[in-house]
Amino acid sequence: MKSIYLDYAAATPLDKRVLKAMVPFFSKVFHNPSSVYLAARQARQVLEQTRATIAKCLGAKTGEIIFTSGATEANNMAIAGTMRQFPDGEALVSAIEHESVLEPAKQFKHRLIPVDKHGLVDLNKLAKMIKPKTVLISLMYVNNEVGTIQPLAKAAQFVKEVRQQRLKTKNDQPLYFHSDAAQAGNLFDLHVGRLGVDLLTINGGKIYGPKQSGALYVRAGTSLQPLILGGGQEFGLRSGTESLATAVGLAEALKLAQAKKTGELKRLQQLSNLFSNQLKSQLPEATINGHDKKKSPHIISVSLPGQDAERLVMELDKHGIAAAVGSACSASREDPSHVLKAMGLSEPMIRSSLRFSFGRATTEADIKTTVLTLSKILAK
Ligand code: PLP
Repeated sequence: MKSIYLDYAAATPLDKRVLKAMVPFFSKVFHNPSSVYLAARQARQVLEQTRATIAKCLGAKTGEIIFTSGATEANNMAIAGTMRQFPDGEALVSAIEHESVLEPAKQFKHRLIPVDKHGLVDLNKLAKMIKPKTVLISLMYVNNEVGTIQPLAKAAQFVKEVRQQRLKTKNDQPLYFHSDAAQAGNLFDLHVGRLGVDLLTINGGKIYGPKQSGALYVRAGTSLQPLILGGGQEFGLRSGTESLATAVGLAEALKLAQAKKTGELKRLQQLSNLFSNQLKSQLPEATINGHDKKKSPHIISVSLPGQDAERLVMELDKHGIAAAVGSACSASREDPSHVLKAMGLSEPMIRSSLRFSFGRATTEADIKTTVLTLSKILAK
């Protein structure tokens, strides 16, 4: 039985070229970049070149990239690192953010930005929610459960206008704009200038790089407090001896992913269309969640009324097909998806929802086999 992996939104395999780039930094170049002798200085040089590669991919300056242990840490750093400085301040975070944004936001005054039934934030509503005490807006790039893409550049325009207004009214409270781009790196533009963000989260484990690798882009001038204190590495924002292998892996993965993003987007769009067409013809009762057009093609969330998604995932697994119930990134699956709930789905519909996510090795045959297998399971 051929196994079919359709859970790329949870984890991607390491690209062979990435592994090759990482290998020397596990053994040959093991030195601490903060030491003073030649080998250590060479390690420091590699680390800084790596930072520069990432900065280039994002259209940022080298000093604006902070290495982290993944998207969770980068999101925590963005939320808590800004909010801690403003005890009276408030954060606005979208209701469909990943838990690594929602949970740190709960430590501070915050409100949830509602989404419509497609998982899209209404910018007019967002604009009305911004108050003089708002410090941070966090709006994810691509949602990890349904794939909806948020209008970041337009939201950034609002942020800019609010800042200008604050200048006029002598309100010196900063307003920062953060986006979690953990699901966007393979297919979409990450240029921070075009996106208009002050803080951007990226993740290696979703772009064929190493797990526990990531970075936070911090626009120069953004005031951030460190969460991890110690030796003062990463410009004092993230202490701890740097992992050169992980950083090199992240940079290589990002470079490769961004270089092939246009072709990959087209290919996955075709696969996504094929999936929905097959679904329509073989399982007409199924509905696809998320926006029709403003959606990443690598994620399809399907509701199958009357079915139990967990059972279906287990049945699919018996046939060698790996799919997910909502997001695999939260360890506890007790609660029904907060994303689908925010989109207005009823609890039974949420419990009937599966997530399929596609990647570099996904083929047309995989899609056809999956939908056929699903319809056979349901026919039983
Ligand atoms: N943000 C989004 C949108 C995600 O999809 C994930 C994981 O799936 C994360 C953050 C957390 O990433 P990590 O577990 O690698 O820290």
